[in-house]
Amino acid sequence: MNQTGLKTTCAYCGVGCGVTVPTENDRRVNVSGDAQHPANRGRLCVKGTHLGDVLPLKDRLLVPSVHGEPVSWDLASQTIADKIRQAQAQYGANSVAFYLSGQLLTEDYYAANKLAKGFLGTANVDTNSRLCMASAVAAHVRAFGEDAPPSCYEDVEIADLVVVTGSNLAWAHPVLFQRLQAARAEQPSKKMVVIDPRKTATALEADLHLAIKPGADGQLFNALLVYLDKHQACAREYIAEHVSGYAQTLAAATLDVGTDSRIQAELCGLPEADLLAFFALFAQTPKTTTLWSMGINQSESGVDKSNAIINVHLATGRIGQPGASAFSITGQPNAMGGREVGGLANQLAIHRGFDADSIAQVGAFWQASHMAQKPGLKAVDLFDACLAGDIKVLWIMATNPVASLPDANKIRAALAQVETLIVSEVVQSTDTLDCADIRLPALAWGEKDGTVTNSERTISRQRPFLIAPGQARADWWALATVAKKLGFSDAFAWHHAHEIFREHARLSRLNRATALSFDLSAVADLSLAEYQDWLPQQWPLDGTTRTPRLFGDGQFPSHDGRAQMVPISPISVDQPDGGDYILNTGRLRDQWHTMARTGYAMALNQHSPQFELHIHPNDAEHNAIVNGDLVAVRSDLGSFYALARIDAAQQPSELFAAMHWNRQFASHGGVANVIASRVDPISGQPASKHARVQLAKQ
Ligand code: SF4
Repeated sequence: MNQTGLKTTCAYCGVGCGVTVPTENDRRVNVSGDAQHPANRGRLCVKGTHLGDVLPLKDRLLVPSVHGEPVSWDLASQTIADKIRQAQAQYGANSVAFYLSGQLLTEDYYAANKLAKGFLGTANVDTNSRLCMASAVAAHVRAFGEDAPPSCYEDVEIADLVVVTGSNLAWAHPVLFQRLQAARAEQPSKKMVVIDPRKTATALEADLHLAIKPGADGQLFNALLVYLDKHQACAREYIAEHVSGYAQTLAAATLDVGTDSRIQAELCGLPEADLLAFFALFAQTPKTTTLWSMGINQSESGVDKSNAIINVHLATGRIGQPGASAFSITGQPNAMGGREVGGLANQLAIHRGFDADSIAQVGAFWQASHMAQKPGLKAVDLFDACLAGDIKVLWIMATNPVASLPDANKIRAALAQVETLIVSEVVQSTDTLDCADIRLPALAWGEKDGTVTNSERTISRQRPFLIAPGQARADWWALATVAKKLGFSDAFAWHHAHEIFREHARLSRLNRATALSFDLSAVADLSLAEYQDWLPQQWPLDGTTRTPRLFGDGQFPSHDGRAQMVPISPISVDQPDGGDYILNTGRLRDQWHTMARTGYAMALNQHSPQFELHIHPNDAEHNAIVNGDLVAVRSDLGSFYALARIDAAQQPSELFAAMHWNRQFASHGGVANVIASRVDPISGQPASKHARVQLAKQ
């Protein structure tokens, strides 16, 4: 802590803003934006501004317990080790699983991944990041050969056209939206097109709002590709030199949406004039950046939709150029860090998959005793395996899947089938923690020490400024303690998060022999002092100059160095029959995830204090519903109750409810009760954005 305070990173969204904390060990601290941090340059949104409001110790989980009995860490970790040994001896390596979180620090993720994939022989390590951007990850790999986002935030400022699709950026990534708006204010000729079924806070600021039919995004970008080709707006030379698959992709797009703009507009549920206005703007604006987020990714065809976006950027040579790129914005503060260490079940580590060379190389580096040989179960499959009784020990860290995964009743039933459910948590009660056999008190923001990576690949430090309360411990420490009980002392003999980060950086040196971008080798010998003083830096950190953008030279980390356009035939409507209304889900401005933190901050509950269902006036009248009525939303899977809010900005026959509410804050739970656990077949990401439902006044 120097005169200007301690610098750390916001705990909420994937923008990854730097914050400054003026005083040490003060749980009523006022935080301010870090003017030097490249993500926010001093700005903060309301959630970041009120980070200090969620630090008081009320409702903290402070001691480990086994079946409700407080125990020492030694006994808790020995019990976990014994349960893991017993399960694996009796049922095999894959009877043990981990379900992690984009709230974890990279060092925590690394420890869990190494323990499971290198020493327990299972790749059953998945994360709530599967719910966030797994579809974009798969699309990056298909298009570029690696999950490497090519853009940086500056692109949003210098683009002449920003297309925002499947994202309420103003509320979900507020500081990036502030940067965009400031740039537009400075140069009013810059345009913003927003593609969203709802008239969101972002859409209200758009030059053109395309209120698309839910789920039709893939058709829209297919139709754009057809338009670009027809109007000679594709970059023929760039395609010839750097891109494969153009002809096949164009053929598939034409087959999907045809060439008649009137029919294309009908498919997308848009006025033809608006559709053509967007297409013309895109075609005429070389510096175009397209942002996308959960509205694209959380879909049964989320990977295809993401690739449909990337396709039009590859076709126009607008990848990794200043102001011209396709940019997936991650939801969580460390969704990217998890991807780097292998926090998804289909990844091994350092952007490597489960090919024989990678298994051998990573295994040798770890001096692994039992390497996983193939990908593990993705989130929804993992919980289905729990329900089937195949997972005997499940360790959940820093997430609340009962409230956040689709079909909450099924997830609750699945957890009941697990013989030993371990949950690491900060607070005393969540929908998930309440199901646990073993509860472990974790560190909260302000106590944690490690690194996170934001949406533009910037690695920043989360630094502690509070004394850890009770027996709360770092998640990496809990994992290493159990690993030692299992007999893996040498491989987990870390004393500080710095040693884990350095090991991760050293592991990344393996990528020097490949075309992969992910490389931290320049910091592989980082000292503790250098780690403590770390300034935000974008990877790759390979000792060359700063790399704000990737692939600008047209070279891609694929087998032949070329990018790949991917032919897609997106599923047009993402929900099965079975209800008169389409429920859309999304986020509130001042809440975060399942409200386990923000729900306790008075200031953050002023904006949208009640669980509301937004209903178009015609639908309200049809059901004799007035503002404030209690209404029930039902699907075949369950129901939830909310207060009616008549909202002329809604589309007829479409409803909207925020995804944050759960049993902790709404007695019968929230949207997870009614959403089916349908997933994208490639990414395994659940289609959480839409459900067919019935509406009834209570
Ligand atoms: Fe935190 Fe995101 Fe707000 Fe920045 S934009 S202050 S990272 S919640």
